[in-house]
Amino acid sequence: MKLHFFYLCLFLLFVSSCSKNESGIITVTGKIPAGALGKTLHHEHLLVDFIGADSTGYHRWNKDSVAERLLPYLLELKKLGYKTLVECTPAYLGRDPELLHMLSKESDIQLLTNTGYYSAVEGKFLPRHTFDETAVQLANRWIEEAKNGIEHTGIFPGFIKISVDRKPLEAINRKVVEAACLTHKATGLTIMSHTGLAVPAFQQLEILKEHGVHPSAFIWTHAHNETDFNKHLEAAQQGAWIAFDNFRPDRLERYVDFSLFMKKHGLLHKVLFSHDAGWYRPGEPGGGNFRGFTEIEDILIPALRENGLSQQDIHQLFVLNPAETFKVRPRLL
Ligand SMILES: [Zn+2]
Repeated sequence: MKLHFFYLCLFLLFVSSCSKNESGIITVTGKIPAGALGKTLHHEHLLVDFIGADSTGYHRWNKDSVAERLLPYLLELKKLGYKTLVECTPAYLGRDPELLHMLSKESDIQLLTNTGYYSAVEGKFLPRHTFDETAVQLANRWIEEAKNGIEHTGIFPGFIKISVDRKPLEAINRKVVEAACLTHKATGLTIMSHTGLAVPAFQQLEILKEHGVHPSAFIWTHAHNETDFNKHLEAAQQGAWIAFDNFRPDRLERYVDFSLFMKKHGLLHKVLFSHDAGWYRPGEPGGGNFRGFTEIEDILIPALRENGLSQQDIHQLFVLNPAETFKVRPRLL
């Protein structure tokens, strides 16, 4: 009888660990439990191709030589105790799931890639069909990638990356945001939207609500471009993730002030920090000047500690928050 009880317990343990996996995080090498994400930089780039949607393609770079150039930067990050880097380059701007897969295997750093389109900069990075198709048709393309993998690589997107212009939303921006909402509802993937200022951020949150999507499915990306912390507070109170994702040493004071402000309001659990660094640029000799991923560890984290953030706060910012952000599950109103 006791033995039966033991096996029953084992089974329940198995079921519960499976269901934990169900709401896991999708990396380029497969699904992991959210607890395995570890210390994470939630917004970086390995390769970005700025030539435009009509000219970019895998012919523009050699995966092996790019991987050789970039591997040291990931190994350096691993030495600092980081386990995961979220690669935010969208399709038609240099997204290369196979390159990320190679680099993840070689470095033992977990990498996430994405589905979705970048609608800022007057459509320079949008494929033609974005203008002709409906939001539903666009969403179906992205849902297809989430369900069956990207371009027959067997590699799956871990989030939705979109972008809008830094001004009130145009029709094309709205369509892309609507497609992201539909994709979120079908897949549970988080929406990361290159946004900047408060006006388009709140317009997007309205579109989410119209589609029954909770703001906690949304990362207000490049929120550091908005100067009014009260806007960040308001969006975080609604549940959105607030990303100060372009840390540079000369922005230290502002990032520290923002952390203290959010901590004072009990909302540090909605804050994300990253460098938006990297950027091997095809077409430039050796990929041009590559910016590494260590300034947060070397400069920001020590400054946060000096200003009174605890070890638990740091853990919250770089481990718990990214895990909660990218955990795949529909967040509905
Ligand atoms: Zn970026």
